[in-house]
Amino acid sequence: MIKQVSAVGALLLSLAASTSHAEEYLTGIEWQEPPIVTPGEKPSDAPSDAVVLFDGKDLSAWKGAEGWKLEDGAMVVGKEMIESKDAFGDCQLHIEWSAPTPAVGESQGRGNSGVFFGPYELQVLDSYDNKTYYDGQAASIYKQAPPLANAMKAPGDWNVYDIAWTAPRFKTDGSLESPAYITVFHNGVLVQNHFELLGNTPFSDPPSYNKHDVKQPIRLQDHGNPVKFRNIWVRETKPAVGKRTREPFRRDGDKETPITAAK
Ligand code: MG
Repeated sequence: MIKQVSAVGALLLSLAASTSHAEEYLTGIEWQEPPIVTPGEKPSDAPSDAVVLFDGKDLSAWKGAEGWKLEDGAMVVGKEMIESKDAFGDCQLHIEWSAPTPAVGESQGRGNSGVFFGPYELQVLDSYDNKTYYDGQAASIYKQAPPLANAMKAPGDWNVYDIAWTAPRFKTDGSLESPAYITVFHNGVLVQNHFELLGNTPFSDPPSYNKHDVKQPIRLQDHGNPVKFRNIWVRETKPAVGKRTREPFRRDGDKETPITAAK
């Protein structure tokens, strides 16, 4: 009986608390100040903490680019896939690309390239008036996820990918600890929304995860089509850092009430 009364009492107290504007909820976590990042003047400009992989001048940030060309501030796909000399884990990637003009070929043969995080491909393809399988068109995760929309610009125009990448993690025994996730905007249109990758993205095999370092190079595919790239920069991302210094509590003037004890 006493317990019932006290439960009703607690309910009344909590109702009173929920209508009080003087009481404040405090988390008990001390957060570190977020780093200051100076954005570029235009969305295509690298923010102050970005690693610039291509700014129109040279291909020095890339391995295997001997067969690629520099043309009017853009890099043009040549022989062989290239990869960044630096490797990246969780990151934000900005990259612009343009499909060849005039459009030549069809389906997967038209303006095909790809942006790879290690072995995982975000498809680059001329998907302007060019039908192919949907999980192989521009902004698909190859053979895993069609884009949520086709936001493709015409051949010769510049497309923009803004990507948030979460790298997969592996246990020491090689099994998967946590999968990769990707979010992609194509020309400002959300086309992949925190998609959980099933594994890598080969042409002839189902996806699988095979243990690798968290940090992987960014790779750009040679699929035999002279796709152009420009304005490539990447920012490694880290979770906000905070330390719990006490349990959550409410403060009302000088009175502090631990939330766990108030239950
Ligand atoms: Mg491709």
